[in-house]
Amino acid sequence: MPKICTRCLLKDFSKEQYEKIIVEGIRALPAEDIVSEELEAERLDLCGQCEKLNRGTCLACGCFVEIRAATKKGRCPYGKW
Ligand code: SF4
Repeated sequence: MPKICTRCLLKDFSKEQYEKIIVEGIRALPAEDIVSEELEAERLDLCGQCEKLNRGTCLACGCFVEIRAATKKGRCPYGKW
């Protein structure tokens, strides 16, 4: 998994690096902590309609929503999912 610098901006990542962070971030999680593809898609659909979504990041909590939405412990800070 690439090292994620918490002080880097998304503009500092290439599209490939960004996708690698997301895909490898999800792959690094234990299988038992991952939700079904259907639930993940439902969550991301809600994020996709949310005004807090900014380039893959939630402005309410600062997380990469695609990683948060994939995890059983993941919660929307606004209670949308
Ligand atoms: S996690 Fe919640 S607040 Fe953040 S972008 Fe998704 S729906 Fe919006």
